[in-house]
Amino acid sequence: MREANIGTKSIWAGEKEQLAFGATQVPVVHSVSFGYEDMDEWYDVAVGKKPGHIYGRNTNPTVQAFEEKVRILENAAASTSFSTGMAAISNTLGTLLFPGDRIVSIKDTYGGTNKIFTEFLPKQNVDVQLCETGDHRALEEEVAKGCKVLYLESPTNPTVKITDIERMARAGKEAGAVVIVDNTFATPVNQQPLSLGADLVIHSATKFLGGHADALGGVVCGKKDLVDAIYHYREINGATLDPMAAYLLLRGMKTLKLRVDRQNQNAHAIAEYLQTFDMVEGVYYPGLPDHPHHEVAKQQMSGFGGMLSFSVKGGVDTVRKLLPNLQYANRAANLGSVETVVGPSRTTSHVECTPAERAAMGIPEGLVRYSAGIEDLEDLKADLAQAFEKLTAYSKAT
Ligand SMILES: *Cc1c(COP(=O)(O)O)cnc(C)c1O
Repeated sequence: MREANIGTKSIWAGEKEQLAFGATQVPVVHSVSFGYEDMDEWYDVAVGKKPGHIYGRNTNPTVQAFEEKVRILENAAASTSFSTGMAAISNTLGTLLFPGDRIVSIKDTYGGTNKIFTEFLPKQNVDVQLCETGDHRALEEEVAKGCKVLYLESPTNPTVKITDIERMARAGKEAGAVVIVDNTFATPVNQQPLSLGADLVIHSATKFLGGHADALGGVVCGKKDLVDAIYHYREINGATLDPMAAYLLLRGMKTLKLRVDRQNQNAHAIAEYLQTFDMVEGVYYPGLPDHPHHEVAKQQMSGFGGMLSFSVKGGVDTVRKLLPNLQYANRAANLGSVETVVGPSRTTSHVECTPAERAAMGIPEGLVRYSAGIEDLEDLKADLAQAFEKLTAYSKAT
């Protein structure tokens, strides 16, 4: 049978095995444990000789449907899930890295990931080497010196820089490293890191996968032996995805393709529109021809994503006055939801960092992160226009 496209898969994939009572929707199985009359059957399931569930920290039918849907969307051999995106990242690194090991990554990873690299891993005697994001030569040199893990994120948060995944996966492979890509910003609709040579792909499902900002979750997909080891680490350490959250994420994912297509369109149009404002200093979006990594983005992404950022004249002071003027945007820390979300990077993705650390990462204090929702584009544009207009009126009056 021919393979379905991703929009069809996001609706149908992974659910069938978990349906019960003729229901057409996956049930939320709120049960901590699963009981057995037959002691031998219980034993066989417990030791993995037979499929089934034993205890909710290990596996759960609703959670399994979610894992399976993401696995199929990412074209992966295996997948496992977590309570949050950060749990997915920390459990994966906890599985792979031991004292004396070395990891190579980029400076622009998500703020929480960056904290793992700069605060927690060094305490465990793991050598962390962070390269300039987009400096492929530097990354290749560091990887060639030897490392256990090459950790990438593309596009990055908040300045949407791009790393050439295929080129870096090749470098990682030559050095014998496990190549990991955080695919949260792109989603499997826009980018499939495993097909570009990565070993593992990670998502904060909290963002675009769920898409409704009502459930936290994380997921790791990739090679079976790696995912099995990560699952084992998680089942013991306990960062399990809750069944209700799994259900909300599953339901959100049915519209993943529709939402992401619309978010791609809205973000691209908003990025172009922002460039027409005098108050806007810079616009960061990989779909813009003047973006430094536009060509790489065009090659490895089928859409440029729903995330952009822009900096305004007057820095933090302007941001403070501008953002409250917006009617159709949540001023909040999340991203990837159906609603447009805005926030200063110093309050959202990089709140854990000092101003000096942010400056070192090339994040201006007056940078605004803009996560395009699925609203009608004309309304988003009009909203920005009136928000900037109020600002001009304000600065004329004072
Ligand atoms: C939000 C985010 C994370 C962390 O996910 P949580 O679900 O908030 O723990 C990791 N990576 C990226 C790129 C993110 O945007």
